[in-house]
Order: sequence, then structure tokens, then C-alpha cells
Amino acid sequence: MREEMLKKIDETISNGVVILGQNVEEIEEKIANYVGTNYAVAVGNGSDALLLALQSMGIEKGDHVLTTPYTFFATASAITRLGAIPIFVDVNEDFNINVDLVKKQIESDKSIKVVIPVHLFGKSVNMDYLKSVCDEHGIKILEDAAQSIGSEALVDGKKFKTGAIGEAGILSFFPTKNLGAYGDAGMVLTNSEEIAKRVKSLRVHGARQKYVHEEIGYNSRMDEIQAAVLNVKFSHLDEWIDARIKVAKRYSNLLGDFVQCPEVPGDRTYVFHQYVIKTKARDDLREYLTNEGVGTAIYYPIPLHLQKCFSFLGYKNGDFPVAEKLSRESLAIPIFPEIKPDEQEYVANKIKSYMEVRS
Ligand SMILES: *Cc1c(COP(=O)(O)O)cnc(C)c1O
Repeated sequence: MREEMLKKIDETISNGVVILGQNVEEIEEKIANYVGTNYAVAVGNGSDALLLALQSMGIEKGDHVLTTPYTFFATASAITRLGAIPIFVDVNEDFNINVDLVKKQIESDKSIKVVIPVHLFGKSVNMDYLKSVCDEHGIKILEDAAQSIGSEALVDGKKFKTGAIGEAGILSFFPTKNLGAYGDAGMVLTNSEEIAKRVKSLRVHGARQKYVHEEIGYNSRMDEIQAAVLNVKFSHLDEWIDARIKVAKRYSNLLGDFVQCPEVPGDRTYVFHQYVIKTKARDDLREYLTNEGVGTAIYYPIPLHLQKCFSFLGYKNGDFPVAEKLSRESLAIPIFPEIKPDEQEYVANKIKSYMEVRS
């Protein structure tokens, strides 16, 4: 795509509009159409998208916001950046928030205002169940779809894209995400005109009209060059997602007998932002693979309730046993749309030979 991107970037430079111009409007419209929301508002990055969305949903100092301890840091820091308090509940073995525990927590803590589910590694959360639980208690949902653009879930028998099911949703276009810019960029998705308007104001210092500030906002805007890159790449998104799903299937066929592979639910999609295996031998396997030239990564080595900066929340080791176990046993192996079958076989053979020698 190099030539196509350079052409777009060149046009952008000639145009002279640097921030929040035509390219940004174009990608906002494309993404809104794609996910099926009335509004998609471009912001500086996914972390800010969470912050601006939460604030626009009315979250303030002291409010309780429920989420998972097994996610990227920004999901929880968006809550504390507003002075609100993250309340964690444990995840399932599939890395996603345990909705039975969400239900229990909501029933016992009446101060919870918003729940943030994270469609981790590109696997849709069981939104049908979560939405029914939240609706029953009048609690709003903010979907963290940073890793799951294009992934779908059934709600009341109807298919929705992740990010379009809750009161609001967010996307990240960090370069490593399934749709990545050439730097930072993010987006807030919503059907609510009120939320969309407030995010549009918050991204430019809380001004709906230049130099007239209704509230204290931020500098969090998408620039035209990032949007130019996203507009070029967007047309490939669905083929990349299909390729990731194929790659994941091939890995599962090759590795299913040796390590625990991710399971794909029948009623939801898994767009495989990451392909994460589980094994008790994680650390040794990782070292072996590194020496054999196979890149791996650990998402995430320390669950959020055990992060030093969140010690003031009062959580301790043992509070969320599944999240803690996953942080010791999960290992992401190489996945990207262009990976070749023989490269996958190389990775799988190395894992197999290590696991066989070990047992
Ligand atoms: C990447 C990511 C974010 C933050 O996005 P940035 O664009 O990097 O700020 C938030 N939540 C999750 C789950 C992510 O993976």
C-alpha cells in the first residue's frame, strides 16, 4: 500500500489542512457505516477515547465503574483519570469478563454507573447476557473494542458489531491494532447525539464554538495524515480479518493436542487480534521459542488489580484467581494476515517439539 499511502499523504500536504479536516471526516463516516452507529468521533488515541466517552456518559469523581483486571492498562486508567473508582471482577478462562460476576457485583454495589467490557484479543464478549444484566439495573455499557474492530455478537437474535452495542464504544488505531494508523489515533462510537456532541467538544478543550469553553476539555484530535493512512487501509480491513481467522484455524489444528488453544464461540466472532495459547510451561516455552527465532509476547504479565499505581484500591494477590492464572500461563504467538503456512508450521513444530521433550 506504500504508493497509495504516499499519494494520499502528498495530497494531504498540498491541501494544507493538518488536523480534523476532510480525511478525518471521511474515516469517521466510513467507520460509523461499518460498525453501524449514528456517530463515530475521531480522537487522539484509544486511551483518550475511553476517557472522553466516560466523561460524556456522565462519569465523575467518586463514581464506580466496573471492568476487568485482565486488559490493557488504559481501560482502567481512563476511570481513575476522571477521579472515578475502578471496580474489578474476575474473567473467564477465555480472558473476557465473567458476566455472572458482573451480575453479582451490580446487585450488591448500587453505586456502579457504567460497565466496561473489553473484547480481548478480538473475541466478542457475551453481549447478549451482559446487556440484559445491565439493562435490568439501568447501568450503561461502554465497550472497549480497541482490539476487536469488525468482530460481531448476537444481541436479542440480531447481529451487531462490537462497539455498537453499548451506550458508547471505543476503537484504537494504534499501529499494531487490526486497523492501525502510522502513529496514535482513536475513535468514540455511539448512537447518542448527546454523547457524540460532548466528545466533539471535549476533544477541542471543551469548546463547541472556538474560544468559548463550556467545560474543561482536552487536546485530543486525529490529524489528517493518520486519517489518510486509515482511509487507505480501511478498504482491506475485512480481508485482513478473514485472513486472521484462517491463520487462527490453522494454528488450532496444528497445536490443539499440545497446548490450550483459543475457542471460538458459535454465536460471536473472534477476529484474532492476538492468538494466545495457554500452558503451565509458559516461561520456559517462551525462552525456548525466543532462542529458536520465534517472537512471542505476554498479554498481560501483571493483572491490573496488582499494579502498584492501583494499590490505593485495596486489592491483593488472590482476589482474582483466573486473571492471575492467565497472567502466568498465556503466551501470544505470531499472528498477522500475511503470515505464511510454512511459517506457522515452523512455529507449531517448535512448540510441539518443546512440549514433547518436556512431557
Ligand atoms: C490499545 C488498547 C487501548 C488504548 O489504545 P491507545 O490507542 O493505545 O491509547 C485501550 N484498551 C485496549 C484493550 C487496548 O488494547
